[in-house]
Amino acid sequence: MIKNLVMVWPLVRFDAINSLEYHLVKKILPRYVKVAKNELPAKFQITKRISCIGINDEKTLTEDELWELHMKATKEFYKVVKKIDEKKLKLEDLKIPKFSLLDLKILLTKIIMKSCELCERKCGVNRLENKKGFCKVANECLISSEFIHMGEEFYIIPSHTIFFMGCTLQCQFCQNYTISQWYERGEKILPEDLALMIEMRRNGGARNVNFVGGEPTPSLLWILEALKKCKVNIPTIWNSNFYMSEKTMKILDGVVDMHLSDFKYGKNECALRLSKIPKYFDIVARNHKMASLTTEMTIRHLVLPNHVNCCTKPVLEWIANNLRNKVIVNVMEQFRPEFKAHEYPEINRCVSKKEMEEAIDFAKELKLNFIT
Ligand code: SF4
Repeated sequence: MIKNLVMVWPLVRFDAINSLEYHLVKKILPRYVKVAKNELPAKFQITKRISCIGINDEKTLTEDELWELHMKATKEFYKVVKKIDEKKLKLEDLKIPKFSLLDLKILLTKIIMKSCELCERKCGVNRLENKKGFCKVANECLISSEFIHMGEEFYIIPSHTIFFMGCTLQCQFCQNYTISQWYERGEKILPEDLALMIEMRRNGGARNVNFVGGEPTPSLLWILEALKKCKVNIPTIWNSNFYMSEKTMKILDGVVDMHLSDFKYGKNECALRLSKIPKYFDIVARNHKMASLTTEMTIRHLVLPNHVNCCTKPVLEWIANNLRNKVIVNVMEQFRPEFKAHEYPEINRCVSKKEMEEAIDFAKELKLNFIT
């Protein structure tokens, strides 16, 4: 059944058929393309094979010492990635050690969750004791759905998309508000079952696994545990609002093959009003800089009505000044006034043709690698 669903995708999206051969995609996302085509191993499969000797549980070392070890093991990881990418080493030559860099990431994530600071809200609740912070995700993995998504960017589909419950933002116009704001309960899933789903979908032809929500950040632990058990080679996509803490950014480095980030607001005031999030621009810009050092990226910018001057232009300008040739930017016009948008007069409509043209002209002027 799954196989049949995937097999018909070329009939639905012609633009995706040869998309991994497109010049822009190969230029900006070369490693993602090779992993999707099974020519290189996904990063998590390499992370699983980097040894962290001498660690059995968190009591053997302090948290600072564990982070120190994480830093050293990440350096080793990138040496190994380089050798593999240059065909000087094969993944099969590496054994899975007793305690790997991926195990260390799982251990550190559990430590972070004891006084939760997975995202920059830093609620400080003990998630391992089932306490809930702003995102309302406690200590079990709840998903809304998982399926082969055909509506994503042409080089991403067919994408095995997993929707995790809860979100660290509260966008007043969220199109997925039933998931992000808990208007549904979600279905409990164990990491081993998540791993099986990922394997099945890859074997059925999915190009990647796409972790989204809501927001995937609160569910990081179970995603890592699923990747530990996952046997197939598949590129991972972190499809996120990018409000992660610095610690989470470090954990993600080495497990994400492509970031698919959301960069909406150019002004902190707009983000506070419309997504109830403090210091948005500072945090999200910082995380984009961090991620771009090691990981390939697509940045989505959703054009909001009446926010072209305060948000679209500053965001696109920031990308041009900081990441111009490193990312593909998707300038999106999909905004619909959903959820509580009617309470905010300036966004209680779709984006006008004139606003979209202004956004696209500006992206052209900045010479961004952009798609719409
Ligand atoms: S992930 Fe959830 S509980 Fe943790 S800091 Fe963010 S909002 Fe708070």
